[in-house]
Amino acid sequence: MIDFNNTEIAFSSKSKSELRNAYVLFNVMKYPSIVKLGKFASNIALNIHFPLGWIVKPTLYKQFVGGETLEDTTKYINFLKEYNVKSTLDYSAESKKTPAGIQATFEETLRSVDFAKGNPNIAYAVFKPSTLTTDEVLCKASEKREELTIEEVKAFREFKERFMALCQRAYDNNVRILVDAEDYCFQDAIDELTDDAMRQFNKEQAIVFATLQMYRHDRMPYLRRIYDDSIEKGYYPGIKFVRGAYMEEERKRAEIMGYPDPICKDKAATDENFDAGVKFVVDHIDRMQLFMGTHNENSNYKLAALIDEKGLQRNDQRIYFSQLLGMSDNISFNLAHENYNVTKYVPYAKVRDVLPYLLRRAEENTSVAGQTSRELKMLQAEMRRRKK
Ligand SMILES: Cc1cc2nc3c(=O)[nH]c(=O)nc-3n(C[C@H](O)[C@H](O)[C@H](O)COP(=O)(O)OP(=O)(O)OC[C@H]3O[C@@H](n4cnc5c(N)ncnc54)[C@H](O)[C@@H]3O)c2cc1C
Repeated sequence: MIDFNNTEIAFSSKSKSELRNAYVLFNVMKYPSIVKLGKFASNIALNIHFPLGWIVKPTLYKQFVGGETLEDTTKYINFLKEYNVKSTLDYSAESKKTPAGIQATFEETLRSVDFAKGNPNIAYAVFKPSTLTTDEVLCKASEKREELTIEEVKAFREFKERFMALCQRAYDNNVRILVDAEDYCFQDAIDELTDDAMRQFNKEQAIVFATLQMYRHDRMPYLRRIYDDSIEKGYYPGIKFVRGAYMEEERKRAEIMGYPDPICKDKAATDENFDAGVKFVVDHIDRMQLFMGTHNENSNYKLAALIDEKGLQRNDQRIYFSQLLGMSDNISFNLAHENYNVTKYVPYAKVRDVLPYLLRRAEENTSVAGQTSRELKMLQAEMRRRKK
């Protein structure tokens, strides 16, 4: 059986000083008060245009980001390839919400789809739909509580055009593309468009992938609906599973707005939902493709065992495991060593633009029970092993 505690394989790519830097960083991130203070200070610095590169670049950025441009990421693509790990290049600029900024993000994401074309070391392209319009328009169009103004109708139409243009480019380039999942208030509109895109572009194989956040208790019925629809209309759904990144905000918003909490009642219920979804897709692998994004060791063990039990090839291109760059290398590198398909999300963008993503990573490492202590334990074990 695969062993995620094998730190020699997990960190074979890291030099002594890289190990030490990662250890110091995760040690700092384990204190919620420091992360909160860092978030507060960065928001002020962003507002007053105070330069942040000198502090962020050698720390958070170095650990979690692949570079400023697509070309910069080549270093990571080549390096990950050496360990049988593929890349998924993620343009992570989230703070450019002006019309010009949105257009620039769209064009850069298109470039990332072109960059992936024909490159066997890039497993997928990816985009975050909310970067293609303003939050206000996406939320209003998705929730359908009130009518859109003429301006908003136009903005939403442009959003749909950009969304479909990315999927069309992925189809033309024969590159699989992941549609990231986001806040509950945006998600109905994203789901509708993703369903349409899958019907249009997945006729011969899965090109467009829907993301299902399994902390939502309504996702299994949605998954079954996608499956039934694909049989009826004749296409191959791509399904990306994650647990979901916005739990606290979602619970709070549901309470304030007075609608039922969309999140599973507890962690065990989310885990059960996640496992059920993954199993459903593996059981229907002749029709669906699977991308599993998680740092949960148990989920990774379970999928690896399921692949073996079913007699599937470990490197069957219909199934991928995935973790974020800079996190859970013990899972990624050990899975890849055992010949399972692994891809790392490799974010890239300028320091200022990628800051919201970085702050989310720092918060996640503070709030996800056990994540930081597990990283620290692994890093420590490897440093000790090398000393010996
Ligand atoms: C490659 C990759 C891509 C990703 N893409 C997306 C994306 O498109 N959209 C997105 O939202 N997130 C995305 N994420 C983040 C993901 O949703 C999780 O927030 C993160 O991975 C932590 O979950 P886990 O499965 O790794 O770990 P775990 O530690 O096993 O799970 C933590 C998660 O469990 C859930 N949870 C925790 N406590 C409770 C509770 N009390 N009740 C109910 N549920 C609970 C929450 O979702 C929490 O984030 C991605 C992650 C990866 C690795």
